[in-house]
Amino acid sequence: MTRIETLVQRLRAAGAGPTHERRILRLWSNALAMDSGKRRIEDFLPASLRAELPAIEAELAALARIVSVHPGSDGSERLLVQLADGQTVESVLLPRDGLCISSQVGCAVGCQFCMTGRGGLVRQLGSAEMVAQVALARARRPVKKVVFMGMGEPAHNLDAVLEAIDLLGTAGNIGHKNLVFSTVGDPRVFERLPRERVKPALALSLHTTKADLRETLLPRAPRMTPEALVEAADAYARATGYPIQYQWTLLEGVNDGEDELDGIVRLLAGRYGVLNMIPFNRVDGIAFRRPSWERAAEIARTLHRRGILTKLRQSAGQDVEGGCGQLRARTLRIVPV
Ligand code: SF4
Repeated sequence: MTRIETLVQRLRAAGAGPTHERRILRLWSNALAMDSGKRRIEDFLPASLRAELPAIEAELAALARIVSVHPGSDGSERLLVQLADGQTVESVLLPRDGLCISSQVGCAVGCQFCMTGRGGLVRQLGSAEMVAQVALARARRPVKKVVFMGMGEPAHNLDAVLEAIDLLGTAGNIGHKNLVFSTVGDPRVFERLPRERVKPALALSLHTTKADLRETLLPRAPRMTPEALVEAADAYARATGYPIQYQWTLLEGVNDGEDELDGIVRLLAGRYGVLNMIPFNRVDGIAFRRPSWERAAEIARTLHRRGILTKLRQSAGQDVEGGCGQLRARTLRIVPV
């Protein structure tokens, strides 16, 4: 039962009407124990569904479990999550009630600076496995924002990600602008998102303003030029009223030069968005270098002066295997706690 749709069919087959269905989805995605509301549930569930509920709960609980927790000094917590078939993904509880979740085991985009991209795609996550990550996190602390920025490219698992977003933005009690779809940019995303009932905010991984360099850094991203990407993203931002989060992993000597700063000003001046600069996290086996914090701060100040709203960020929990996929890669050998 890795898909929400399968769960819904199961509930209906057991006699659930729309109200029962919504209530059960709400309890699950908010990590509220179904039996703690026993009196209420017994009041309103048909007997056939009541009889099925323990089995359904057990199946939902079996979708995913936390095998290890890695607290960061910044208040984040990286969670290694095991799925029913033994595959693992990462979720990260962020400061200020945020949660970053994974949408695939592995990833096919193959970004040169990413550990997840190294192993290629292993399998897609079902929509229920994404919501299960939220439920697991909510059992630990409140979650008011969910970003699809963990392992995987959400555009490559679009139907399942949008199904999870729809549930989280309705029964899951998360404001639509607090659901963030993160992508390297894909025409299907720009076509589908505006038509959805729950329209998430958009984060676009830009990383460079040069089309040829982008093809090298993100070898299997769709061939859209940086200009076309920004154009499409900006149209979505203006349609939804949510600013785009342009993501930029700063790589020393690769995309931190004056030519790139000029390119950023040319591309992003007057756009409705914010540029998040994240200095690359050193990873064994990946040759890119992290620029000094002073250089990164100077870049952010320069862009600010030139009219680009820029935020310099650390990736969350970077003292505990910061970049996405590092924890999984490292802990494939770790004994669960
Ligand atoms: Fe995939 Fe994101 Fe890693 Fe690129 S950075 S390989 S899109 S997981």
